[in-house]
Amino acid sequence: GEARVGQSPIALYDSDMARRAQRRNKVEAELHHTIARKQLSLAYQPQVDGKSGRLTGVEALLRWHHPELGLVPPSEFIPIAEASGLVSDLGQWVLETACRQIVHWQDIGMKTVPVAVNISGCDLHVSDFGANVARTVAGFGLNPASIELELTESVLISDIGSEAGRSIDRLVAAGFRFAIDDFGTGYSNMAYLRYLPLRKLKIDRSFIQDIGVVHEADAITSAIVRVAEALSIKTLAEGVESMEQHRALMSLGCREMQGFLFGKPCPPGSIAHRLAAAA
Ligand code: C2E
Ligand code: MG
Ligand code: MG
Ligand code: MG
Repeated sequence: GEARVGQSPIALYDSDMARRAQRRNKVEAELHHTIARKQLSLAYQPQVDGKSGRLTGVEALLRWHHPELGLVPPSEFIPIAEASGLVSDLGQWVLETACRQIVHWQDIGMKTVPVAVNISGCDLHVSDFGANVARTVAGFGLNPASIELELTESVLISDIGSEAGRSIDRLVAAGFRFAIDDFGTGYSNMAYLRYLPLRKLKIDRSFIQDIGVVHEADAITSAIVRVAEALSIKTLAEGVESMEQHRALMSLGCREMQGFLFGKPCPPGSIAHRLAAAA
């Protein structure tokens, strides 16, 4: 709140800390009930081929509508879910819901594209994670190639050669695809690109924001595209908002794009007409 005359900075600091701790506790307590109380949904954001505009995939993004708290952003509740051990339940709900959606799109005659789901680093540490994913997707009668699993770099750096690497190898052998999310913002160690069978690097929005404006952003994006090309890995630019960024990315050789320019995350019904057009 506003600083009031006579109130010490310490008191203000304490009350701010107390308010934040209270909010966190409330969010954590309420997170336990999201699934049972049916407060979750998935929004889907288009991924397109920058040249043809053709839909190449959609990313599933988790939404939590709470009756009092309103729409709580994933940037707030995912870290809390990770810290409190709730994230694997959420992840399982996301995977099942995405699979059910793909089956529905197929049932109504849509051409379906791969659906990308975000995987928490915590999930990869669970030893039967790979088996769970494979069993869930098979349970819906779906091909593993209909799901793309998104991981962030930090997960890979801390885990090379260990449980996470083995989980990825097993899932790729089973036909699943992996994309690295927010690429370029983790550690600058790219060693894992040599070892892991990745399909796509998603170049972080922070670079895309500066594309065509700041020389260094162009240089780094261009270098990422060339490394990926040499390794037969696709690149996708995250957070493309303007025609200028689109144009600059095309000239840098980045083929796939995702961002408000091509569509915001939206309810599944709004994606159906784009799937129909992609058929
Ligand atoms: P992310 O996976 O990098 O997802 C992209 C985020 O960028 C989404 O935010 C999306 O709405 C936003 N975005 C897309 N295009 C644009 C654009 O043109 N401009 C701007 N300003 N933003 C854009 P969202 O949905 O709030 O999700 C934030 C993060 O929360 C995600 O980042 C992901 O790390 C995490 N998250 C979301 N859903 C899940 C989930 O089901 N499981 C896990 N583990 N994490 C999730
Ligand atoms: Mg993502
Ligand atoms: Mg991302
Ligand atoms: Mg991002």
